[in-house]
Amino acid sequence: MRFLEMWNPLTFVGYDIASKRQIEETVRELYNSKPHIAATLGFALAGLSAAMSGAIWSGIAATLVVLACLLFRLVMERLFIARRPGELEPKWIRLFVFGSLLSGFGWGLSGALLLYGTSAQTQALTMAIACAIMHGAAGRAYMMPGTALFNIAFIIGQMSIAAYLDGNYIYVPAFLLYFTFLASFILQMVSNRLCQLHAEQTADRLYQEITEKNELLRIANEALATKAYEDPLTGLANRRKFDLVIAETLAGAQQEALPVSLMIIDVDHFKAFNDTYGHQSGDECLQLLTKAISNTISTPGSLVARYGGEEFVVILPGQDCAEARVIAENTRIAARLTSLDMLPNTPPRQTISIGLVSCEAGSLMTRDAMLAAADAALYEAKKQGRNRVCVYSDMSREQHQTPPAGATL
Ligand code: GH3
Ligand code: MG
Ligand code: MG
Repeated sequence: MRFLEMWNPLTFVGYDIASKRQIEETVRELYNSKPHIAATLGFALAGLSAAMSGAIWSGIAATLVVLACLLFRLVMERLFIARRPGELEPKWIRLFVFGSLLSGFGWGLSGALLLYGTSAQTQALTMAIACAIMHGAAGRAYMMPGTALFNIAFIIGQMSIAAYLDGNYIYVPAFLLYFTFLASFILQMVSNRLCQLHAEQTADRLYQEITEKNELLRIANEALATKAYEDPLTGLANRRKFDLVIAETLAGAQQEALPVSLMIIDVDHFKAFNDTYGHQSGDECLQLLTKAISNTISTPGSLVARYGGEEFVVILPGQDCAEARVIAENTRIAARLTSLDMLPNTPPRQTISIGLVSCEAGSLMTRDAMLAAADAALYEAKKQGRNRVCVYSDMSREQHQTPPAGATL
């Protein structure tokens, strides 16, 4: 903002760096008419002094002028408060400037009436009150210094003329000195205001930068948390995620009296696969099988996780034994049908075995008991020749070496 620019009565200090909020606050402060009430009371007091010392008409006229100015300011303030929310058109700024200059003119006229041909006591009182009013105006001039300076110039100009006509010549240079003093005071205030606006602008920018950085950090943390629960080879949930979900699922199933099923899937003869075709092909085979398994299991709330090595676990909330058996069978078929043709020098197909256990609605089973039961069923599937689904409840008592607590036989 250039030096000369700020003396334009319609210009805000720092309009080019102030935010919309700061400009709104400034205009609201400028429309505040409390200082005008104090100024009117002061001049009314001087008017009373004039009337008591014989200058009745001067006292009455001076009081009426400041009362009229106050009335105008009060109406202006009411209109400003009642404007549409958020509306801050240039007309409100122009109205303020008009009101402020009118007040300056009114106070100057009132001061002049009270200085001309009145008693020494009234003149001293008028001078003191006028100085207080001008000082008040200068104190608020950091917002619109041009308007304030014109306002003060109107007061000083008219009062100087009155003092001169009354023969009180010494008041004229005194007023000029006072005007110079106020102008330098206003300059200091404007410089402080610009510093404040710059500081607030910097603070706003830094706050915005911190907010943006925090958002990036939040996204990075989220991505990290997702990675912490993800198996890097297959992209499936890892064992840590499985532990969380199984605990939640079992608690929810108990609360709502719903069944839960759990499958353990193991790739058949995978060591031989690796030994024959290499680890790289083994990894790719696991990825293909994973895709087939995931695509087959779509029941709501289900979770497919890599439990370790070539073993996977599947949680099937809300699925009883019959429903889970169908899903397990479909999974086995999907894996068997998965073609490995795209891998060089590998067999066309790879099979899986599945151990399944179901916790019926209303019965209690721990995570460990379910895992042990599913593992026992898987062991049985391997024993029976692989590439099959074995359900824990179908196994004969002899097949259960140590029946897990809560498992239904
Ligand atoms: P079974 O049918 O009885 O399950 O036989 P298996 O050979 O699959 O069982 P075993 O437990 O003896 O061997 C598991 C093999 O799985 C051993 C290891 O080479 C392989 N394996 C485990 N994790 C990975 C992996 O991340 N990538 C590859 N390529 N192989 C893996
Ligand atoms: Mg295994
Ligand atoms: Mg295996």
